[in-house]
Amino acid sequence: MKINLKDILGSVGGNISLEEDFPIEEIEIQSRKVLFPHPPRVKVTLTNTQDDILVQGTIRGEAELACTRCLEPFRWEIMREIIETYAKKELNLEENSVLDISQEIYQHLVLSIPMQSVCQKECQGLCPGCGKNLNSGKCDCKEEAIDPRWEKLRQYLEN
Ligand SMILES: [Zn+2]
Ligand SMILES: [Zn+2]
Repeated sequence: MKINLKDILGSVGGNISLEEDFPIEEIEIQSRKVLFPHPPRVKVTLTNTQDDILVQGTIRGEAELACTRCLEPFRWEIMREIIETYAKKELNLEENSVLDISQEIYQHLVLSIPMQSVCQKECQGLCPGCGKNLNSGKCDCKEEAIDPRWEKLRQYLEN
């Protein structure tokens, strides 16, 4: 995502706003595949401050990821605030007035995906015995007999 700053470079306090789709279809985070069914929408305002170019805005969109409990894909809503500053003296603006913020947008997208994410709060996950998705009903595995002394601990761990 490239933005030409030439209209605001002349005036401190000057700003430009724009809204664009960020062209991305999938990313891989720690070998987990994350799909974007449609490109996330980026809305930013760039302001020329004394020493920096300040970028403020939001990314909104949807990602499709696998539930960490039952592995079924589900939709995750992305809504992330962006605040970035670029030091003017590091941008070499005399030669090139175009600022590319793609790298930072990409990083924000990665950070907007939670490490642990379940398709629903009550997701039952997979049976450790047969691997059946317990959201679609009980399996035929016998429940292991539980020592009553451990029952309290089990309840505690489930909460
Ligand atoms: Zn699930
Ligand atoms: Zn089972």
